[in-house]
Amino acid sequence: MVSSTTLAVIFDFDDTLVPDSTSEFLKAHGIDPEHFWLTEVKALVDDGYDPTLAYLKRIFDNSGDGKPLGQLTNKALSDFGSTLDSKFFHGIPQVFEDLRDIVSKFRDMKVEFYIVSGGLESIIRGSQIVNDQFDGVYGCQLAGDTSDGPLRYIKRAITFTEKTRYVFEINKGIPAADVLKTPYLVNRSKPHPERRIRFPDMIYVGDGLTDIPCFSLVMGGAGDPEGGGLAFAVFDRRNKRFKNTLFPDESLAPTRQTIQRNARWVLFFALLWPADVAQSRSKKN
Ligand SMILES: [Mg+2]
Repeated sequence: MVSSTTLAVIFDFDDTLVPDSTSEFLKAHGIDPEHFWLTEVKALVDDGYDPTLAYLKRIFDNSGDGKPLGQLTNKALSDFGSTLDSKFFHGIPQVFEDLRDIVSKFRDMKVEFYIVSGGLESIIRGSQIVNDQFDGVYGCQLAGDTSDGPLRYIKRAITFTEKTRYVFEINKGIPAADVLKTPYLVNRSKPHPERRIRFPDMIYVGDGLTDIPCFSLVMGGAGDPEGGGLAFAVFDRRNKRFKNTLFPDESLAPTRQTIQRNARWVLFFALLWPADVAQSRSKKN
C-alpha cells in the first residue's frame, strides 16, 4: 500500500511574509515603532523581561482610555490585520498556488502551509490571504474579561524557543484548534514513522535570529531516522539591518542579489527535494 505524504511549509510571519505587523499597527496609531522597540521594550528587556513578554506588556501600557491604542480588543486587532493584505512581500500569495501546483504532479502527496509567529495572532488572522492560504496559524494571544471586551491579559505567548513547540505540534498532527485545549499532548511520545508530517517533509522559512531554534529543529530532524528538512532565511532587501546581519561583507553583494531575484525559485527547488525523498520512502514501504 502506498501511503500518502503531507509536506509542510512553515513560515514565520513578521518580516518574512509582510513587514513587521506589530510595528505597522503601532504606526497606524501614531506610536513611533523605533521608540517602542528600542526604548520602551528595551528598558524591560534590560530589566530581565523575556522580549516577547516585554513587548506585550508595552502593548497594554499603551492601551486604555486616552492612550494611543485606545480600548484595545481582538476585533480591533483583526480589523487592522485585514489592512495587511496589500502589504505582503512580492510573490505572495501566488507562491502558494505555484507550490501546490508543483506538489500536485507527485502521486499521493500534498502540501500544507503554516504560520508560527511571535506576533499577535488576532492581527495575523485578520488577513484574508492568511485565511485563504494557511492550514494553521500560531501566534501570541491576548484576552479580556469577555470575548469582545478590552484586552487585559496574555493568553498565549510565543517566544523564539516556544516556536519549536508548534513545529512539534504540526509534526505530531495535533490540530491547531485543539492546541489550547490539549496543551500537554505535544509532549506525548510518538514514533517518528507514525507522525503526521515528518521532519524531512518540512521546510521552515524565517527572517531572523528568533527563527534559529526552528531552523535547527527542522534541519536536525529531532531524531527522525530519515533526517531533517530544509530551512531558509529570507530578508527585506530595503532593510539595512538585515543586510548587515546576513551579509556583513559587501563582497557578497552579488550572492545577495541572486538570492533576492531567485527567492521564489529557491523555494520551488527546495520543495521538490523533500517531495523526491518522500516518494522514494513511500516506494520503499
Ligand atoms: Mg520575523
